[in-house]
Amino acid sequence: MLDDTDIRIAADWLRDARRVVIFSGAGVSAESGIDTFRDDGGLWIDFPPETFATVRGILRTALLRPRRCAEFLHRILEPIAQARPNPAHQALAALDRHVETIVVTQNIDGLHQQAGSPIVHEIHGSLLETCTLRGRFVKLLNRAGLMQVSGAMSCAARSLFPRLRMLWAMRPLVGLSRHGLVRPRVVLFGEALCEPAWTESLAAARTCDLMLVVGTSGVVLPAAMLPSEASANGARVIAIDPDDAGRCDLWLRGAAGAVLPLLLRRAFGETTEL
Ligand code: NAD
Repeated sequence: MLDDTDIRIAADWLRDARRVVIFSGAGVSAESGIDTFRDDGGLWIDFPPETFATVRGILRTALLRPRRCAEFLHRILEPIAQARPNPAHQALAALDRHVETIVVTQNIDGLHQQAGSPIVHEIHGSLLETCTLRGRFVKLLNRAGLMQVSGAMSCAARSLFPRLRMLWAMRPLVGLSRHGLVRPRVVLFGEALCEPAWTESLAAARTCDLMLVVGTSGVVLPAAMLPSEASANGARVIAIDPDDAGRCDLWLRGAAGAVLPLLLRRAFGETTEL
């Protein structure tokens, strides 16, 4: 249950702040219809990360169990292709009208930018972009394009020739270009975080005076270091999450899509419309 005193304190801190960093995870997009990874029904329950979130694991599955690989790609692509920003993304975008706001997100769904947040560091990359094997940006994709790939993956998973159909369906995301081999610009387990996004995120965490940690279990390292970096440099840390949010100065217990618009209203009288 969200405590009114806590909301009042958080609103006071927000009004006093000169530079706010938002550190977001899968939970901020849950109300846009994108599953988190670790909650009940989350992606990792059906598709364990050691198999589906490493380059080696994905290549091995594509080779040996193409149907399963196509199912995984369909499951991850479809919700992101269909998603729209929810009231949490909208409220965070509106916050920048009142105080300098930098968003550092672990998400790969592009929803903070679509909602209008002006500075967004995507430390785990974006499913809406492709890059070379060295991480150089190649191409921007749109949600309609992702939807087509997702539909083709669903067909591949049911096809008599799943491997061929899957490879064909993946062409917008994976293949050869004049820049060499191209892949989605997302960080898999064991890979380095995106640069310069990570270096700039660390700098922002160390210089903000308030950090809002929204919808992350805080177990993915090194991203999960950011709240302690902020705290060690004197910033207050507010967590917004329906479940135990770990170490913070204040925990606003609830769904981001309900708590953030309320917080903005209490701090600045701002209402955000979708
Ligand atoms: P996680 O699944 O480990 O944790 C999700 C957190 O969100 C939990 O603490 C949960 O209680 C909270 N949550 C659930 N519903 C919420 C709501 N409505 N409002 C606020 N909080 C809510 O996710 P993580 O910590 O972000 O780590 C998983 C990794 O996978 C990250 O890199 C993450 O971004 C990525 N991922 C991205 C997306 C996406 O792009 N939308 C979706 C799933 C996972």
